[in-house]
Amino acid sequence: MEGGKLIIFSAPSGSGKTTIVRHLLNKPELNLAFSVSATSRPQRGKEEEGKHYYYISLKEFKQHIKNDDFLEWEEVYRDNFYGTLKSEVERLWAEGKNVIFDIDVVGGLRIKKKYPKETLAVFVKPPSVDELKIRLKKRSTESEEKINMRIAKASVELATAPQFDTVIKNYDLDTALEEAYQLVSKFVASDKYENKDASNE
Ligand code: 5GP
Repeated sequence: MEGGKLIIFSAPSGSGKTTIVRHLLNKPELNLAFSVSATSRPQRGKEEEGKHYYYISLKEFKQHIKNDDFLEWEEVYRDNFYGTLKSEVERLWAEGKNVIFDIDVVGGLRIKKKYPKETLAVFVKPPSVDELKIRLKKRSTESEEKINMRIAKASVELATAPQFDTVIKNYDLDTALEEAYQLVSKFVASDKYENKDASNE
C-alpha cells in the first residue's frame, strides 16, 4: 500500500480527540479524509452508517480478521471490536487524500509502526481521569457500566502517551484545536515529519 500521509489521533474516550479530528476535517487546505472504521458495537445516538463507522456483526468482523482485511484491529472493549480496513485507506489514498484516524492507542501505535515515515501519531491528553468521567457523563450516550469500563481503561491508555510523536494537552479546547491545526499543517506540508528520529528510518 502506498499513497499520502497518515495522521493518527489517539486518546482515552472522552479526551476530545473526535472534536479535534472533526475540526481538522473542516480545513480543506489540509486535504484530509476520515478513515471510517468497521465496528461490531451497536450504532449510537445520531451516528450514521458509512460516516462514523461501518457497523457489522461480530461474525462478519471475525471473517474480515480471517481474510486479513484489516490494517489493524482491536477488541477495544469486551465484545466491541474496531478495525481499520485496508480497503478504506487504499480508497482514500487513491483519491489523493491524507488519511486521518480516530482510533485507540494500541491501533494507533500499530499503524505508526507499519508506516513510520508516513505517519504522525498524536496523543490527546485530558486534564485528569476525573475530568474524563465528567465529560463522559455529560455526553450521556452510554450506561454507567459502559462509562466505568471506559474510565478503567483510561489510566492504561494514558501511560502510552510517550510512545506517540507528540502529545496535545486538551485542557482548553480552543488552544488544543489551534495546536492540532498548526501541527498537522506543518506535517502535511513536509516531505517527512522533522521530529521523527533515525529509529524510524
Ligand atoms: P467509540 O465506541 O467511542 O466510538 O470508540 C471507542 C474507541 O475505539 C475510541 O478510542 C476509538 O478511537 C477507538 N476506535 C475507533 N475505530 C477504531 C479502529 O479502527 N481501530 C482501533 N484500534 N480503535 C478504534
